[in-house]
Amino acid sequence: MYLAFAIWAKKYTKRIKPDIGCQGSFDIIFVRDYILISGGGISLVLTMANFSQRYRPPVLCSVASYKLFCSTTWSVGTFSLLFVPPAEGGGMEINMLELPESYTISSQIEKNLTGKIISYIEVLQAPHRFAFFHGDTKSYGDLLEGQTVMKATYYGGMIEMDTENCMVVFADGAYPKYYEDIKKFPKKHQLAIYFDDETAIFVSIQMYGVIMIFPKGKCTEGYYISSSSKFDPLCDEFTFEYFRSLYPGNHKKITAKAFLATEQRIPGLGNGVLQDILWDAGIDPRFDMREASETDFIVLYTSVKKILKEMCEQGGRDTERDLYGQKGKYVTQLSKNTLFEPCVKCGHEIHKANFLGGAVYYCENCQKKSNVHLGSR
Ligand SMILES: [Zn+2]
Repeated sequence: MYLAFAIWAKKYTKRIKPDIGCQGSFDIIFVRDYILISGGGISLVLTMANFSQRYRPPVLCSVASYKLFCSTTWSVGTFSLLFVPPAEGGGMEINMLELPESYTISSQIEKNLTGKIISYIEVLQAPHRFAFFHGDTKSYGDLLEGQTVMKATYYGGMIEMDTENCMVVFADGAYPKYYEDIKKFPKKHQLAIYFDDETAIFVSIQMYGVIMIFPKGKCTEGYYISSSSKFDPLCDEFTFEYFRSLYPGNHKKITAKAFLATEQRIPGLGNGVLQDILWDAGIDPRFDMREASETDFIVLYTSVKKILKEMCEQGGRDTERDLYGQKGKYVTQLSKNTLFEPCVKCGHEIHKANFLGGAVYYCENCQKKSNVHLGSR
C-alpha cells in the first residue's frame, strides 16, 4: 500500500488545501490505485494513474495531474498535486486481508457457519469514511434476512460467503469476526450480520475496507472479477509457464516487489506476504527484474507457491487474525515482529525500508539487490 507516501503527503497538505478550497486538517490514505484525502467535511479520491514510483530527493519536484472525484457526488474534475515520493524511513503498517487470511477465514466460515440463518443486517452502525460498500446498501436487509449460509470461498485476498441467493464479499481491511457471546459483541462496527441463534459476524474497519453484497453471481465490480478470474497460486493451474507469462517483458524497469505485488498480477499476494516470499527466494524487493535469469524466475515461482502454502496450512500469518480473532500460526520471518532481530538463515540483522509506498523488510546478506552486487561479494 502507499501509506508511507501518505505520511509524507500529510506534510504537504497545506499546499494542497488552497487548491481544493478546504480548511482544517486532512487525513490522506491510499487504497490500491487511489489517494484518499479526507477533511473539512469532504472526501476526495485521486487516481494514482500518473504516480511515478521512482525515488526522488525529498523536495517538491514534479507536478502531476490527477482526476479528482468528490465522494459525495462522484463528479469528475481535474486536480493538480505537487508530489514527491517518500524518502527512506518512516512507513506505517496496516492489516489487510491477503491470501493466507482469506483462505483461513473462508474455511472457518465454511466449516462452522454453514447452515446458520441470517436474521438481521446492520450497516454503518458506526459511520466510517473509508468503509466502501458495493451493491445497494438499502437492499442488503431484503437480500440477506432469512437466508441461510451455504458456503464460503476465497479469491485472492477476498472472502466470499454465499447464501441461497446472495453473496457477501469482504476485502482489504474488512475482516469478518465471529462472536458467540452477546456480551462480547463489539460496540462499533460497519457491518453486522446477526444469526437467529444469537451469534453474529461483525466487521469493524480500522483504515479502510470493502464490503460487497449482491444477488449471487451479480457482482460486477472490477476488483472482484479480476480476483476471481485469475489462477489461484495454490492451485495446479498456477504453473511456472503461467507465472512466467505474468512478467510484462516490455523492458521497462520493474522491481521484484512491483512484479509480485502490484497490478493484481497475483491476487492475494500483497505487501504483507511478499516479504517472506522474497526472503525465501533470496531476492531483495528492490531487485530489478530485468536482471533476473530464468533461474531467478524459477526460484521466485517456487517461493511464491511454497510460502503461500505454508501460510495457509498454518492458519495465516502471526501478524494477522482469523475469524475468531486468533493470530495465525505461521511465524513470519520478515515483519514488524522481527525487525532488528537476527535473520534465521544467516544471523544478520533484519532491516526495514520504505519502498513503493510501503514498508519492506529485508536481510541484506540473504537477498540480492542486483546481480552485480551479488557478484562483487
Ligand atoms: Zn539472512
